Amino acid sequence: MTQGVRGLIDCHTHTQFSVDSEADIRKMIERAIDLGLAAYAITDHCEANRWYPKEYYGDVKVYPYFDSGKDYEASVSEITRLKAEYGGKINLICGTELGQAQEFPEIAENVLRDERLDFMIGSLHQLPATEDFALMDYSLLVQSDIDKLMDRYFEGIYELCRWGKFDILGHLTYTLRYIEGENGFKVNMKKYDEIIAESFRELAQKDKGIEINTSGLRQAYGRAFPEENYVKLFKDMGGEIISLGSDAHFVEHLGANIADGARIAKSAGFDRVAYFVKHKPQFVSLG
Ligand SMILES: [Zn+2]
Ligand SMILES: [Zn+2]
Repeated sequence: MTQGVRGLIDCHTHTQFSVDSEADIRKMIERAIDLGLAAYAITDHCEANRWYPKEYYGDVKVYPYFDSGKDYEASVSEITRLKAEYGGKINLICGTELGQAQEFPEIAENVLRDERLDFMIGSLHQLPATEDFALMDYSLLVQSDIDKLMDRYFEGIYELCRWGKFDILGHLTYTLRYIEGENGFKVNMKKYDEIIAESFRELAQKDKGIEINTSGLRQAYGRAFPEENYVKLFKDMGGEIISLGSDAHFVEHLGANIADGARIAKSAGFDRVAYFVKHKPQFVSLG
């Protein structure tokens, strides 16, 4: 799973500072050193729609946790400290995975002003007044609910790309992990070709990138987020920046299927992948 990653990058990973991970941050860094990654980004969760403590939001049932701003600060200050401590041993990138920026752009823009931050992944994990995709009870849903959710997901993605101030769009199509991979629904993806192309056009115009998130390859879904045909479409729309991320929440998943991600990038016509330092892309050749 982690073979052939020497000299490659893993730019989407979580640690103990993410609400859904207990991975020891030092063990993650030491594993990244052992793997010989050319760049390793820690991108703990920060949800723009849950930035403040619970009291701020009143009686909302769809937000399972709060105080993302506090998690963000804990993560970024520790990464900054460890960057100095591990200097010379690993090319450690201080990142964040920011959710729902399109809904709360002022919070996202404030995060982007943080000079400690190298890299922002812009993700969409939750639609307004709807449960987080990871936490939905899919057994209560029927096909028409799924179709509506996917329509709203891609509209949200388009809005996120129109805002587009992040560096990389996170795991496009990851909702299929739950919908197709774990709950056996089918989604007619053809229907979304146009809105995906328009979203990519927005990104390309802003010199922004997408990631090949390899987590789907180790899950029931069995494919990357997004699949190769979309990576190719991104190139066709003028996209030039591709990143690779395992979305590891455990030490043993660090670097997982990154070599497969590199193969997908190559086969879609990209000869390099990018990581970010102070929001500027740094390229690593795929050879
Ligand atoms: Zn995510
Ligand atoms: Zn993630």
